[in-house]
Amino acid sequence: MSQAALATSPSSGGGSGRPSPWRLFAANRLAAGGLIVLAAIAVLVLLAPLLPLPSPDATEPANRLLRPMSDGYLLGSDQLGRDILSRLLHGTRTSIAVGLSATLVAAVIGSLLGLVAGYAGGRSDNLIMRGIDMLMAFPYILLALAIVAALGPGLMNALLAIAVVNIPFFARNIRGVTVGLVHREFVDAARLSGKGDLSILLTEVLPNVLPVVVITMATTVGWMILETAGLSFLGLGAQPPQADLGSMLGEGRRQLFTAPHVSIIPGLMIFVLVMSINLMGDGVRDLLDPRLKSGALGRPSARTDVASDRAKAATAQEAATALLDVDGLTTEFRVGSEVYRAVGGVDFELKAEECLGLVGESGSGKSVTAMSLLGLVPSPPGRVVGGRVAHRGEDLLDVSYDRLRQLRGGSFACVFQDPLSTLHPLYTVGDQIVEAIRAHQALGYRAAHAKAVELLKLVQIPGPERRMEAYPHELSGGMRQRICIAMALANDPEVLIADEPTTALDVTVQAQVLRLLNRLRMDKQAAVLFITHDFGVVSEICDRVAVMYAGRIVEVGPTEELLTRPAHPYTRKLIDCVPVLGERERRLDAIPGLPPAVNRLPEGCAFADRCPQARPDCRRGNITLDRLGDERSVRCLFPLLSSEKQRVS
Ligand code: SF4
Repeated sequence: MSQAALATSPSSGGGSGRPSPWRLFAANRLAAGGLIVLAAIAVLVLLAPLLPLPSPDATEPANRLLRPMSDGYLLGSDQLGRDILSRLLHGTRTSIAVGLSATLVAAVIGSLLGLVAGYAGGRSDNLIMRGIDMLMAFPYILLALAIVAALGPGLMNALLAIAVVNIPFFARNIRGVTVGLVHREFVDAARLSGKGDLSILLTEVLPNVLPVVVITMATTVGWMILETAGLSFLGLGAQPPQADLGSMLGEGRRQLFTAPHVSIIPGLMIFVLVMSINLMGDGVRDLLDPRLKSGALGRPSARTDVASDRAKAATAQEAATALLDVDGLTTEFRVGSEVYRAVGGVDFELKAEECLGLVGESGSGKSVTAMSLLGLVPSPPGRVVGGRVAHRGEDLLDVSYDRLRQLRGGSFACVFQDPLSTLHPLYTVGDQIVEAIRAHQALGYRAAHAKAVELLKLVQIPGPERRMEAYPHELSGGMRQRICIAMALANDPEVLIADEPTTALDVTVQAQVLRLLNRLRMDKQAAVLFITHDFGVVSEICDRVAVMYAGRIVEVGPTEELLTRPAHPYTRKLIDCVPVLGERERRLDAIPGLPPAVNRLPEGCAFADRCPQARPDCRRGNITLDRLGDERSVRCLFPLLSSEKQRVS
């Protein structure tokens, strides 16, 4: 779901709408299973001293190597007649305690080094990281063995050795994250506010780094338990008679053939323990990952899910001539038990060579509408649950994935807001245009290259041959957007979807790009769906305008008419928000309040809480999109041009 759309939800700030972290975690069954197994093990080992079990070190030579289920020995006995169940529970407790302690020591020291290196930079960074590099240059297990050999065998020394060899892992991770953070605007703002380095490090950088530390700990603690067990297995960790899982395994290997249960039981416990910790760690990582915690723990599929039983609107007569006919398009996002209806039944048609502007505040559903047309809304959590998108009579929501791939970049092309994130940073712009051409046309590299140069000329890039070799970061913002437009035009699309293509550009470049888009639309006879929140841009390029609010179109009509005589109070308010050069005395009229959350839309008119014309009737029933003359429609019971309204539904 678009960030803006979620931002309009009252629950996004931690209210009741968004599912709790625990519910998101429970949705990941493997992680939840890991947690349950781990909790069961933890309860058992914590209760071990209270259970009616013999001492783990008490030997009983007369009862050596008894099989499991023997009288008084549930899991049998070892070579000294010690109760394996008792040693297993106490040994597991020791292994978990050592593994957790080693993880904590490595995390604290490693993260501290990473934080200081990443924040200080320069010589300090060099000094710390070269020290870390030296540690990493030694073979991992050899280094641990060398440390234990130097300090002497023992559980505490094994803990220190494991912690030391894992410090570089934390330091490198945290340094990388810190370097990315220290040049961010919020850190600059903290500096400007007069905060010192220590304060910035603790209050600005550390809170942003902590989730990474937790994720790294959760995914490495199982590994540390294994390493500790490995040292004990070699006789360098727990010393007799103390039990831990590694030492039990090491002692049992001598009876591997005569009494295999002595080594198999601790081996199984290590496996179950490490697996449960790793599964749980993966769940914690997914939960803390900001890209995944929005509700979907799965990865998005290549096209938006479409409900097979979705309601389809009947084809309207007048839409038969349209190039693109959208009827009742409804797209939802499911986040836990909440349903965010970002697009709530959108209807519009786009005629050949026409430019239709889709206008509205952030979160009104413009971009989700455009993305739904080509199945580009991520699923999960997104899903199209209603409507049809007819392109020359073919419903794009029903076509096969192969057909959809033909249409994407072929008959339909997109230009997005930020060209820097659209273009691949590691390929030259020439290679990227050539790739776009060859994805849809059977051309050799030379022919595609020549066509790419032509496209660069078409979008008025100076020195096109030379620019073909440039990387995106070597070009200005306006130039990059022209490259994106060239790529979009590479296969002569019938429909160009431009999603705020000029928002990231300064005004002079914005005007150039708009003029270019307008000219190319005429030359290439392409229809344009132009998404923007800027009425100035709309008046420049659009033939018709559709105004969206809370996921629905509330007014549609020819640009000039709609801008000079808006019928919907929301359109009126949007126009009043636009400053006009030279009219200093004109009062800018901000719209009070915020759009409603799309998971809790009110009954009746969604704009009622902000509308100066609202009356009691506005808060009841469904408000339909009604005709207001030949080319205009409005979703309002009391439109500003009410005398012209003709109710048709
Ligand atoms: S229906 Fe009522 S509340 Fe909604 S825009 Fe019209 S006048 Fe305002």
